[in-house]
Amino acid sequence: MQTWDVVIVGAGSAGLTLALLLAQGDHSQQLKIQVLDQGPVPEPDPVPEPTPETQPASFARVSALNLASKRLLTTLGVWPHLSANPAYQQMDVWEADSFARISFDAQSLGLPALGFIVDNEQLRQQLYARVLQLPQISCRFGVKITNINSSAEQNLLQLQDGQMLLAKLLVGADGANSFVRQQLQMPIAFWDYEQHAVVATIKTAEPHQQTARQVFLPTGPLALLPLADPHLCSIVWSTTPEQAANLLAADPISFNQQLTAACNAVLGMAELVSEAAVYPLRMRYAKQWFTQQAVLVADAAHTIHPLAGQGMNLGLMDVAALAELINQQLGQNLPLVDARMLRTYERWRKSEAQQMITAMELFKRGFGSSLPLAKLVRAVGMKLTNQMPVLKQKIMAAALGNSGDLPAIARPEVNPL
Ligand SMILES: Cc1cc2nc3c(=O)[nH]c(=O)nc-3n(C[C@H](O)[C@H](O)[C@H](O)COP(=O)(O)OP(=O)(O)OC[C@H]3O[C@@H](n4cnc5c(N)ncnc54)[C@H](O)[C@@H]3O)c2cc1C
Repeated sequence: MQTWDVVIVGAGSAGLTLALLLAQGDHSQQLKIQVLDQGPVPEPDPVPEPTPETQPASFARVSALNLASKRLLTTLGVWPHLSANPAYQQMDVWEADSFARISFDAQSLGLPALGFIVDNEQLRQQLYARVLQLPQISCRFGVKITNINSSAEQNLLQLQDGQMLLAKLLVGADGANSFVRQQLQMPIAFWDYEQHAVVATIKTAEPHQQTARQVFLPTGPLALLPLADPHLCSIVWSTTPEQAANLLAADPISFNQQLTAACNAVLGMAELVSEAAVYPLRMRYAKQWFTQQAVLVADAAHTIHPLAGQGMNLGLMDVAALAELINQQLGQNLPLVDARMLRTYERWRKSEAQQMITAMELFKRGFGSSLPLAKLVRAVGMKLTNQMPVLKQKIMAAALGNSGDLPAIARPEVNPL
């Protein structure tokens, strides 16, 4: 039977980042780390052939990352290898059929950028490429875990091929439907946002000018995230499950017409140039983030509405916080893991996640009502906020990860960019 200091279940952005942080920590470098994932190895895509105009662009899930995540990924040596989607310098948010509008501009707020669009799969590939350089980390893909037993001393994992693993610390980084969370019977609170997100790449007649855009429709928000090509955007169109299903089934002409109308033709005619995928949106929040010698991070602990693009940012800060606490623990010659340390992690990160969940709920409910009075209040509120640079600076500082209780590696004063 193999024994590991840390077994991380899930080689997504959170699991791989945690493995790197532990392997590079001042006091945690000696840890033996095993990462297990049920999916395939994240292999780099072959260099793409130049795409003829008629061929569809490849579908890419992207995430808007903030400065705190950039600081973390820069320290890990991963950021310079993430190619070429531009930082966005402006953000426009408005409500359909109303005069409610707010705009942010990096330059006038004294910021280098308002955010960075990163390809999810490329991020995973680059994290994994870095992991391969560190001998303390071993990764296994295509692995099925059949059973987990957690005691006060250790965790025992049984794999489908009959192997057993022992772990001093088990980390559930296995996403929204976490098997670890279920096996360890850690309860969650959840509610359905009653929206599905349609994600796709679109081409627009007008260039996006490195501006992220979001329009609040009566059915939900539609975001246009600028990609490297000035005429390509990734859309996240959150809407009713029925409309999402209809959009997926629609012929391209009808899809393009609906999309162009939904975003008020802000960039002229919009055209679908990739496949579209749909994601049901659900808030999940683990009531308990640790048990015995096991702990949850990122989407395994919480999922939120994508309207503010904060889910991955939150998850990356979870693993940075956990790695920081483990490193401190070892620096003081304390055991790798104890209940006091895990409780500190839980309290720290739960509070950040709760604030984000509440903010998303306020946004969603605030924009959910189509009563004329509610629309007027929203419009006036946004117009007033738009004229208050100090308030706008505060909103942006929070969204960008320049404020809040950040792990040291992501703090602007400790890690300026
Ligand atoms: C439509 C949409 C748009 C979004 N946009 C943004 C954005 O702009 N900005 C942002 O910050 N966030 C965004 N998010 C959130 C972000 O995508 C997630 O928070 C993030 O990807 C979660 O990373 P993770 O590593 O926790 O989980 P995942 O990426 O889900 O990785 C989990 C890993 O665990 C593995 N796994 C699962 N089960 C098992 C098992 N039983 N055994 C072994 N391995 C297992 C999986 O194969 C996977 O590799 C968005 C989410 C959605 C749905």
